[in-house]
Amino acid sequence: MSAAKSLLVTGGSRGIGAAISLLAAQCGWRVAVNYARNEAAANEVVARIVRDGGEAFALRGDVGHEADIISMFAEVEHRFGRVDALVNNAGVVDRKARVDQMDAGRLERMMRVNLIGTIIAAREAVKRMSTVHGGRGGVIVNISSVAARLGSPDEYADYAAAKAGVEAFTVGLAREVALEGIRVNCVRPGTIDTEIHASGGQPDRAQRVSAAIPMKRPGTATEVAEAVLYLLSDAASYSTGSILEVSGGR
Ligand code: NAP
Repeated sequence: MSAAKSLLVTGGSRGIGAAISLLAAQCGWRVAVNYARNEAAANEVVARIVRDGGEAFALRGDVGHEADIISMFAEVEHRFGRVDALVNNAGVVDRKARVDQMDAGRLERMMRVNLIGTIIAAREAVKRMSTVHGGRGGVIVNISSVAARLGSPDEYADYAAAKAGVEAFTVGLAREVALEGIRVNCVRPGTIDTEIHASGGQPDRAQRVSAAIPMKRPGTATEVAEAVLYLLSDAASYSTGSILEVSGGR
């Protein structure tokens, strides 16, 4: 078995997740690049990693489905022998809407993918990493959003609520497993230039909200990835339960 540590990045095929996968491979991690639908994008990330001498594979699975998450962890163990780290990055937004326009189906999807998927994936990671379960420890990094702090009124307060849940869960789990060899932290990005805005029907959103950002520009996916790789690394050995802001001062 390779000595390199193995990492599962949910939603690792595009945007911030792709940047995390690529940077992690450069830092020596073996990377399972999860995707839900766009297999070509995942294969492209894997090809770039392999071309540069790294190790990675594309892993289909919808984090909105418990069975998919369980199969994903089994596959990572099968391919890499173990799971040393998890980045809970997969996330979705919906159309801009007021709360009085949101139906239960939308709310259920927001919570299922953004919050419940994060918790179930962390559960599967803890089962394998915790020294209580015979594991050798590990690291979990969750991705929230400044929406958790700003509330996203008139846009997606449901998404904001899910991301606030991710942050509370980060603190709770971090304290729960602090003596079991597992660090759990969170990166809280501001507005980042990715395709997520177009998926919510606002392709120009990143540029449009720049005026409200003290640095007057959206962040890049790589700038978020740098923060994630720090928290994954031993350089962050005394950090757990922390929320690292990457938002241009917003
Ligand atoms: P993105 O460009 O839309 O990419 C989303 C990624 O997640 C894709 O790889 C996608 O795979 C995957 N994904 C979506 N639904 C999934 C599911 N149900 N199961 C598994 N994978 C799924 O998004 P992004 O902007 O990089 O966002 C990444 C994370 O950062 C999210 O948690 C988001 O909430 C958070 N965030 C983003 C911003 C921002 O401004 N961009 C700001 C704050 C926080 P497929 O292509 O196969 O569907």
